[in-house]
Amino acid sequence: MNLIFFGPPGGGKGTQARLLAARRGFPQISTGDILREAVAAGTALGREARRYMDAGDLVPDAVMVGLIQQRLDRPDTGEGFTLDGFPRTLHQAQALERLLAAMEREIDRAVEFQIDEETVIRRLSGRRVCAAGGHIYHVEFAPPRRDGVCDNDGSPLRQREDDRPEVIRRRLEVYRREIPAVLEFYTTRGLLVAIDAAADEETVYGRLEEVLAAA
Ligand code: AMP
Repeated sequence: MNLIFFGPPGGGKGTQARLLAARRGFPQISTGDILREAVAAGTALGREARRYMDAGDLVPDAVMVGLIQQRLDRPDTGEGFTLDGFPRTLHQAQALERLLAAMEREIDRAVEFQIDEETVIRRLSGRRVCAAGGHIYHVEFAPPRRDGVCDNDGSPLRQREDDRPEVIRRRLEVYRREIPAVLEFYTTRGLLVAIDAAADEETVYGRLEEVLAAA
C-alpha cells in the first residue's frame, strides 16, 4: 500500500510511520529525516535546507520534489511506502501525482492525524532525540532511564533546533496555512481519512490498522 500521513508537527505521524514500518514492512519515507541527515553530513542539499528548517519554514518545492523522486526510485518502495512529511504544499501534491503516474503507481490512502495544538506544543517542547541513532524520548511522557542519555546506545540526548518554542509556533503557522489545500486535493480523490491522534501510540496505531483494513 502506498500511503501518505498528514498531521501537524508533533502529531505523531512519524511515530506511527515507524511502527507501521516495523510491523508491516512498508518503508517510512520521512523528508524531515532525509533533510536532517543531509544537514548532518554537510552536503549541498543540507546547507541549502538548513536555513529554512532552523526558521521553521518550508524548503522550496523544487528541492523537495527532486528529493522525493530520487527516494521513490529506490527498490525498497516496490511493495509500498509511507510518506511522512511530504507533500506539504498543493504544488508538492500535484508533482507527486505526476511522478507516481509516470511510475504507474498511485496513492492508496492518505491519513490525517488530528490533534489539538496545545497537546502538540507539549509533545514537541519536551521531545529529545538521541544524537547517534535518532531514538526519540520525551522529558515527561517517555523519559530515558538516565537523564539526558539514550537507553539504546548511551549517546547524549538533544533538543531539535526546530523544537524551540518560537520555531514550533512558526511550524504550526506554516502547517495551518498550507495543509487545507493539500487535504482538499486528497478529499477530492476520495483518499483522505482522519484519525483522532490525541491518545497513546498503541491506541492510535490500532485506529490506523482499522482504517487501513477498510482501505
Ligand atoms: P519534519 O521533521 O517533518 O517536521 O520536517 C522538519 C523540517 O524539514 C520542516 O520544518 C521543513 O523545514 C523541512 N521539510 C520536511 N519536509 C518538507 C516538505 N515536504 N516540504 C518542505 N519542507 C520540508
